[in-house]
Amino acid sequence: MERFEVLSFGPGIRPHGERTPIRIAPEGVVLRPGEPTEETLPFEALRVTAGGFDHNQIALTWTKGEGIWSLILSDPRAKEIFLTTAPPSLAPQLAQWRKRTSRVQRGMRLGGILLALLLLLPLLLGLALWWKSDVLAEWAVHRISYASEAQFGNLLFEQARLDLTLLPEGETTKMVQEIGNRFAKEAPYPFQWHVAEDPTINAFAIPGGHVVVFTGLIEAADSAEEVAGVLAHEAEHVLQRHSLKGMVHQLGWRVVVALLIGEWGGGSVGEAAAQLQVLKFGRDQESEADLKALALLKKAEIDPKGMITFFSRLSKEEGVPIPLLSTHPPSADRAEAIRAEIKRLGPWKAKPLPYDWNQIKKKLAE
Ligand SMILES: [Zn+2]
Repeated sequence: MERFEVLSFGPGIRPHGERTPIRIAPEGVVLRPGEPTEETLPFEALRVTAGGFDHNQIALTWTKGEGIWSLILSDPRAKEIFLTTAPPSLAPQLAQWRKRTSRVQRGMRLGGILLALLLLLPLLLGLALWWKSDVLAEWAVHRISYASEAQFGNLLFEQARLDLTLLPEGETTKMVQEIGNRFAKEAPYPFQWHVAEDPTINAFAIPGGHVVVFTGLIEAADSAEEVAGVLAHEAEHVLQRHSLKGMVHQLGWRVVVALLIGEWGGGSVGEAAAQLQVLKFGRDQESEADLKALALLKKAEIDPKGMITFFSRLSKEEGVPIPLLSTHPPSADRAEAIRAEIKRLGPWKAKPLPYDWNQIKKKLAE
């Protein structure tokens, strides 16, 4: 039976929710199937409402002891299975949900137009420049929820993947996903790690948690630890919302309006996606990503030296310019800051990553 990861909320859970595996069975929703804490919520105990950013998600609420708990079904497949598995006793609630969903979406479109007009006014008054300023981008980004950022990211990724050849599931993708997931344990984003077949030495992060690494980067690396350094750095561009802020800077108010009202013109997604690979971050953001990435590596018990060796080796290479270096210029300062941070973080427990590097490279060369 299919398992899904959903966001759940309740007493003792962080405000932006916790990812929980579930299964939808004829007898109800099974939380954490197969784990010692497995728990079945009978359908009769559930209250169904519309949830999520655009109200097209199914929110299930139940009470346990004194507390109220809920989870959100947003995966289309999970919703479909829930709708087809739920017993007739839930039919009135589900009919309500359908009605509410279509009403909210109609309302959002109308509200969206009004909001867009309101937001256009200051623009017409010549304040357009403000939207480019750091302060305003920061202000706007703080008003965007993780959930809508993740939705935006999904759209961007769907668009971006049209130009990418993703590597099929295999040893290399598994390695990247396993390493990446070590950094995503406490993240408010549903991180997804992809490998694209492309000889370019590059990697990029999409707002909301999609990270794409090119095979060229893996081939240029000498160890899984070197790749891990890049992945941790890219994860921090997502976590610190650098990617989102970058989009707002690059594309201005349209991104903010679209994110706040949940309405995307097809053109703006395409344009946004085209910016992804060339998005440049400020020096402060780069060093923030470096330093925070080290904390992620330490928590994941991965040797951080890969971060220094990879960049210093690449910088010595001659020939075609390396995109990763144009966005991440290796400098004495940068390496020094990384070394200092490693020292500051204190004793470092590191276990070698369990991948046969020669084998990974051999597979890529095939
Ligand atoms: Zn970076």
